[in-house]
Amino acid sequence: MNLNSEALFAEAKQHIPGGVNSPVRAFKSVGGNPIFIKKAAGTYLFDEDDNKYIDCIASWGPMILGHAHPKITAAIQEQVTKGTSYGAPTELEIKMAQLIKSMVPNVDLIRMVNSGTEACMSAIRLARGYTGKNKFIKFDGCYHGHADAFLVKAGSGMATLNIQNVPGISDAVAKDTLVAPYNNIEEVQKLVAANKGEIAAIIIEPVAGNMGCILPAPGFLEAIRKICDEEKIVLIFDEVMTGFRLGAGGAQQLLNIDADLVTYGKIIGAGLPVGAFGGKKEIMECIAPLGKVYQAGTLSGNPLAMIAGFTLLSELKNNPSLYDELNAKTEALHKGLETVFSTAKFSVQINRLGSMISVHFSEKPVTDFASAAACNNELFKKYFHYNLDNGIYLPPSAFESWFLNNALEQSDIDHIIKVAKDFCEVNN
Ligand SMILES: *Cc1c(COP(=O)(O)O)cnc(C)c1O
Repeated sequence: MNLNSEALFAEAKQHIPGGVNSPVRAFKSVGGNPIFIKKAAGTYLFDEDDNKYIDCIASWGPMILGHAHPKITAAIQEQVTKGTSYGAPTELEIKMAQLIKSMVPNVDLIRMVNSGTEACMSAIRLARGYTGKNKFIKFDGCYHGHADAFLVKAGSGMATLNIQNVPGISDAVAKDTLVAPYNNIEEVQKLVAANKGEIAAIIIEPVAGNMGCILPAPGFLEAIRKICDEEKIVLIFDEVMTGFRLGAGGAQQLLNIDADLVTYGKIIGAGLPVGAFGGKKEIMECIAPLGKVYQAGTLSGNPLAMIAGFTLLSELKNNPSLYDELNAKTEALHKGLETVFSTAKFSVQINRLGSMISVHFSEKPVTDFASAAACNNELFKKYFHYNLDNGIYLPPSAFESWFLNNALEQSDIDHIIKVAKDFCEVNN
């Protein structure tokens, strides 16, 4: 029963556009009413009707060690009594920057912001300021937050709601955003040739998570790196999802490719609003107050947010086996689902890297936005609701990766696999 959630959603719609503060939460593409969450602990979400769910989104990534982690909770509680914001520098910001640099290759300087959107928006501005060029290339179905320049063929909520063009974004802004299909290096080469000397940056999710999970084809990222070197283009890895999830050093380390700039969000704040962008000294020194590329934030480096992120990142750095555990759990889930779905009369493609995984209802491999968009969304809707009814909270969109957390136990994994098995039987 979801009577309390239904009543809250009706009330929310009176005051908040669409009843939500971020569009995918509204369940529009899967239908039905969103579930209102009352609390969370470990791997579970509890809703306002006291239903319990295995959480497969982890707040879209941050809760990688589960909800209400005791060390993070204690650290926030201790900090909060000392004041919540000063608008002046703190030692904690240095410790956070040092910690990130010790985990991530190739970051000389790093600046804290308040969201992934801010991080990506600032990284593009910086790349433009540094190179003196205006255009940049992004990939169809990748999402880099909701700053104007990125809302051209974006994934995540735009893909979920099937929004092609966003009113409110001027042609002048959109014309500098060039778009290539993911995993298609020829199209990147064509765009670079057609806009020679005009491209400031290429921004990419090194493993895409905003059109479901899509892996980079072998050699694809290496080829982009090479083009950037040859054409003096700034390579920006958007690691808002992959950072601190694919491993302590993110995609850069796992895939062994150095980006020039890298953006973070999600895990970096442990569930508090934090983002960051960093990279090579020569580029980062163009940021104010050192350089003229202006970027600022009243709450940037906020002490509560910093202590939360610092505590989570320290856990991840000091216990590298956590990644092995979480990857093994996700692999077990992957194998279990694969076995179960092989008995279904419909076709399923499971994409996974580490603890990012997604189930696509498709006969063909899903390697880019076009193949993700061609999946059977009706079946996804059914699968989503079948899971919800059986105590599993999946992303309410086929265009989002699942994010597992390390509080997940074998019994939870078994339950997700069993529910998939029952779903196949009901739909065979
Ligand atoms: C979530 C996300 C963003 C935007 O981050 P916000 O904190 O929601 O602004 C940017 N890039 C990627 C890859 C993301 O997944």
